[in-house]
Amino acid sequence: MIETILAKIPFYLTILSTACGAITAALIGGMAIWTFRDIRSRSRDVLAQLLATLLVLVLPIIGLIVYLMLRPRETLADAYERSLEQEALLQAIEEPEVCPGCGQRVKSDYLFCPTCHTRLKRACPACDRPLNLRWSLCPYCGAGVSPQVLETGARTIPYVREVQEVAGELEAGG
Ligand SMILES: [Zn+2]
Ligand SMILES: [Zn+2]
Repeated sequence: MIETILAKIPFYLTILSTACGAITAALIGGMAIWTFRDIRSRSRDVLAQLLATLLVLVLPIIGLIVYLMLRPRETLADAYERSLEQEALLQAIEEPEVCPGCGQRVKSDYLFCPTCHTRLKRACPACDRPLNLRWSLCPYCGAGVSPQVLETGARTIPYVREVQEVAGELEAGG
């Protein structure tokens, strides 16, 4: 009985070592594939991708730890998103909605500055949406409007007179 078991020990050992080898290979392969995917999402440099994967293949666990310490902190997707955010921020800084007359902040749909009464925009005669004074066409409804170029900072004609003028234009035009 015991002899039979003893005789089979080398066989069991072979199975055990084969299983251990397979598991280790699978783990190393998995780590290498994970590393390759991870570095690809963080760097477009082919050499860096190759080196990182090789590092993990040659020194499985230590290589992975070293890779995790040295890998770029940001993924390419994160970097892209951040650049978009920065661009949006820059645009907001470049084009602040301020009154050209007094520099006070105004909302984009204000027709007049509430502080200094400068005319900022005018309402579209057809759809009533706020239009830039230089536009000759309403971008919302396509109605043609005559552009009114005003010098920055100039006080404009009193509102009532302008309303009368616009009404007159409308009557003459339509
Ligand atoms: Zn103002
Ligand atoms: Zn319109």
